[in-house]
Amino acid sequence: MADLIKSTGIKKSKALFQEALKVIPGGVNSPARAFRSVGGDPLFIQKAEGQWMWDEDGNRYLDLINSWGPLILGHAHPVILAAAEEALRHSSSFGAPTRLEVEMAKLVCACVPSIEKVRMVNSGTEATMSAIRLARGYTSREKIIKFAGCYHGHGDSFLIAAGSGLMTQGVPDSQGVTKGVAQDTLTASFNDLEDVQRLVAANPGQIAAIIVEPVVGNMGLIKPEPGFLEGLRSICTANGILLIFDEVMTGFRLSLGGAQEVLGIKPDLTTLGKIIGGGLPVGAYGGRAEIMDYISPAGPIYQAGTLSGNPVAMSAGKAMLELLKADTELYKRLDATTALLETEMAALFQNAGIPLTINRFGSMITFFFHPGPVRNYEEAKKADTALFAQFFKGLLHRGIYLAPSQFEALFISNCITSSEVNLITQATEDWLIEYRSK
Ligand code: PLP
Repeated sequence: MADLIKSTGIKKSKALFQEALKVIPGGVNSPARAFRSVGGDPLFIQKAEGQWMWDEDGNRYLDLINSWGPLILGHAHPVILAAAEEALRHSSSFGAPTRLEVEMAKLVCACVPSIEKVRMVNSGTEATMSAIRLARGYTSREKIIKFAGCYHGHGDSFLIAAGSGLMTQGVPDSQGVTKGVAQDTLTASFNDLEDVQRLVAANPGQIAAIIVEPVVGNMGLIKPEPGFLEGLRSICTANGILLIFDEVMTGFRLSLGGAQEVLGIKPDLTTLGKIIGGGLPVGAYGGRAEIMDYISPAGPIYQAGTLSGNPVAMSAGKAMLELLKADTELYKRLDATTALLETEMAALFQNAGIPLTINRFGSMITFFFHPGPVRNYEEAKKADTALFAQFFKGLLHRGIYLAPSQFEALFISNCITSSEVNLITQATEDWLIEYRSK
């Protein structure tokens, strides 16, 4: 198989990155794009269509990230483009209510089992920040519990590492986050109910919410063990704590109703993002009407946004959700394609004698370079990140664009079929030959 990057080069990407470094911190507008955990310079993308992406040098890649999840139907879907264009013709923003917002809210409420009312925002970060403010205001409590390795955007309350010692408060995980904020975030281990029970018992009447990615995408893909989410639901109900499912990644990705529908558990609040904007900047949070009515102007908890419910984003998002709803075989197909990828890759690495644990849920999948199992952050961190970096580069050079970190999920789009799975396995086979000959 030809080495794509060596044959055509990435000169333009490299030059753009040097220019970017002068005017953008780290050369990128979001850190994961900088390729720091795999080394090398990031590619600058010029355009994409369906399953393919082209960089500034004209190299073509099979895209397995799909904008970190939103593009479940692939890039530049004609129906979504037409919906955005149609809305744009009537102006890009009004700052006043629109019919589209009502239609979009109705669609979200109809699809996601626990959502009776929903508020649109502009990003997943905004959704999670607003949801915990609501939980705090509603319960009149200040602390929250999150799980090590789960990511809920860059709100101060979430950039917290577990404190040392038993029952301790969190410590800031980024400079600029105050100790005052950190002390209100407690961190438990994913899939460990005892850990959660211990924190709840140590902070009686003080926990407003437990926030969790029901199926985790942000330490690589990690599934909840049987009983874990059910246990969280019971602990929350018994202690007057709100359960928040952060479905920014899993919403409309694992099914129309997200992870909560597949797993049959109703959180009190849900945060959404990614897919519901069809690739445009959108987030949302919703839940029981009685709780959501605490939000201003219905209630006393303030949250607002000049561009919230933006007509172009609503139009693209609504078109996306309608397409997902209309295709009754979509999630089955995505599952089958990703299962095929899982089986083929497992066989290749087994034959090569390289320990690999593949975690998969529907169309989200991670290849952990580690014998496994991988059930929480501690176990994920044991993966061989140096070997992952070699794999990443090996595949990128063969035209396959993976997430540039061991601790991310891949998002398979509907444009990926068994022929694309073939391309991925061929590239992997080719890389394995090169790797083993070294
Ligand atoms: N929550 C989860 C589960 C996410 O995966 C992300 C981003 O990837 C966020 C929240 C933050 O979303 P955004 O990047 O749109 O702010």
